[in-house]
Amino acid sequence: MPSKQPLIIDGKSISVKVKESLVPTIQKLKKQGVTPGLAVILVGDDSASQSYVRMKEKAFEAMELFSETFRLPEMTTQPELEQLIDELNREDRFHGILVQLPVPENLNELKIILKIDPGKDADGIHPVNLGRMVLGVEAPLPCTPHGILMLLKYSGIDPKGKHAVIIGRSNIVGKPIANLLWQKRALGNATVTLCHSRTKNLPALCQQADILISAIGQPHLIDRNYVKDGAVVIDVGINRVDDPAARRGYRLVGDVNYMDVIDKVAAITPVPGGVGPMTIAMLISNTVYLAEKSIQT
Ligand code: NAD
Repeated sequence: MPSKQPLIIDGKSISVKVKESLVPTIQKLKKQGVTPGLAVILVGDDSASQSYVRMKEKAFEAMELFSETFRLPEMTTQPELEQLIDELNREDRFHGILVQLPVPENLNELKIILKIDPGKDADGIHPVNLGRMVLGVEAPLPCTPHGILMLLKYSGIDPKGKHAVIIGRSNIVGKPIANLLWQKRALGNATVTLCHSRTKNLPALCQQADILISAIGQPHLIDRNYVKDGAVVIDVGINRVDDPAARRGYRLVGDVNYMDVIDKVAAITPVPGGVGPMTIAMLISNTVYLAEKSIQT
């Protein structure tokens, strides 16, 4: 059992610091007549997606940046959506474009991502940018993995030489964070194990982790049996669980059973207030980066 109090990694305050660090660049761009702008496309009426999009709109407004949301009906067709993306690719006021995922099942997610101009890929998930990331070439990085690196950086946790165990192999979290952590770069140089739904003996593997990152979407699955004494735990999961006492009838919990592991960990991210705010901060960071790039070329 660790003797010290665990560090609660406060994503809210770290996201404020990241956003503050962008202010000089934003001011410089504005002086040159450029206000970083983001186009958000939301298809359908999934309530979680709607709430994420509202949070993104608010964050852009608070930073005095430009954003516009295109709300499309559930029955939008692939050609209709692709035509909108084509138009947004051509519009100079948008430096970044984001399609809120997941999209309804009748739409092809990969084709949508491929339609976005890689130079306007605010989420950093276009194959061109993921390829650049894998090669260690400058690119807008996927927001959530980049946010995780920033949480580690601002908490003074260097992954170098550590064993990072990641649970979940999605394109937006698991695969890119595994890649970034094993790269020969700042906030990299970890030894990485990537686990998923077919992994055998998951608790035993997780117990070897100096840094444990869970991105599975299973409420409170990760309890103290998965956690080594003194581990750093990053909980990416955002899960709605019924709670009749809550105003909306549900509350948000992570993949990690926070109360069960808290006395074992050296550091941990809460849910909410951990990784979530960082994802939005890195979206702003990517949009600013893309705006800068747009006037350099
Ligand atoms: P996903 O939902 O696409 O896939 C889940 C992954 O978890 C799969 O790779 C699967 O193999 C693995 N998995 C599922 N159950 C498992 C189990 N019992 N044991 C081992 N592996 C298992 O992944 P995602 O899109 O990365 O989302 C994962 C979670 O992270 C969700 O709760 C999502 O809401 C959340 N999320 C949060 C943020 C944020 O900003 N905090 C961003 C993205 C995703």
